[in-house]
Amino acid sequence: KLYNQVQDLKGSIRVYCRVRPFLPGQGSPSTVGSIDEGNITIVTPSKSGKEGQKTFSFNKVFGPSATQDEVFLDTQPLIRSVLDGYNVCIFAYGQTGSGKTYTMSGPKNMTEQTQGVNYRALGDLFKLAEQRKGTFIYDIAVQMIEIYNEQNGLNVPDASLVRVASTMDVMELMNVGQKNRAVGATALNDRSSRSHSCLTVHVQGRDLTSGTIFRGCMHLVDLAGSERVYKSEVTGERLKEAQHINKSLSALGDVIASLAQKNAHVPYRNSKLTQLLQDSLGGQAKTLMFVHISPESDAVGETISTLKFAERVS
Ligand code: ADP
Ligand code: MG
Repeated sequence: KLYNQVQDLKGSIRVYCRVRPFLPGQGSPSTVGSIDEGNITIVTPSKSGKEGQKTFSFNKVFGPSATQDEVFLDTQPLIRSVLDGYNVCIFAYGQTGSGKTYTMSGPKNMTEQTQGVNYRALGDLFKLAEQRKGTFIYDIAVQMIEIYNEQNGLNVPDASLVRVASTMDVMELMNVGQKNRAVGATALNDRSSRSHSCLTVHVQGRDLTSGTIFRGCMHLVDLAGSERVYKSEVTGERLKEAQHINKSLSALGDVIASLAQKNAHVPYRNSKLTQLLQDSLGGQAKTLMFVHISPESDAVGETISTLKFAERVS
């Protein structure tokens, strides 16, 4: 039974690392020395010219040639548990350009093969709900929320919560959401990398035998870029944005780290992001963090900092 399959997952917090391939026309020495199941070794240059190495361990590491299919396969049991009434959070973390949106949504010119977790997740939920219709009746609704500078904004005008019945419905809705996000992008110079974008799926199930009603909720979060911005480099609006991102990402790190350590006190109140997700982080909820890294050697500083963040929450 699915339920058991999910309970078998070790712990309720999982961390997967994904390495983006070199992009066409790019290509320079890779910082990734080796990948072996859950371990990734990063080669770091040192001042004396001698290379150093550092190994990080996660539940799984997807190398640059991993397909969207492979990534989804390892995410599917978690996603399916939402139909059993679990709350699920899936995050994409990493510096701008490392592949967060690729994992969650897909590339710009998407084909069925390159569809990301969002579309596959919804498609899978609809399929499973259909298979179970003799035993359960499900109601599925989605909501898109953008958090920018610690403020909420709804990406879908006049429709905060929309009932959906097919992947097509979701695609349409997400296109509207993306467009709204893009309007901001031109005005605010690629704001999308500086806001958190959250697709929430609400599921209500009714057990036809007992009449019991239960609810599950899944948040699919494409986080703002995690790159460190220094005070000396930016001023004004840009500095404010950077500070808000910094604050919410470190608050998220603190929450997940304290859940992983099973601390009694979990500091949800420190950011809008963690407040919004409070019900779906901790307790019986399941959390999956995808940490993304770029392979280029000039990104090695951000790569190490990303992997350190990830190691702390796993
Ligand atoms: P982010 O959302 O973290 O800023 P993107 O997802 O936009 O990064 O990725 C940056 C670029 O790299 C995009 O052109 C994207 O299509 C490409 N890309 C990212 N990950 C992969 C991947 N696994 N395979 C192929 N192309 C990728
Ligand atoms: Mg992105």
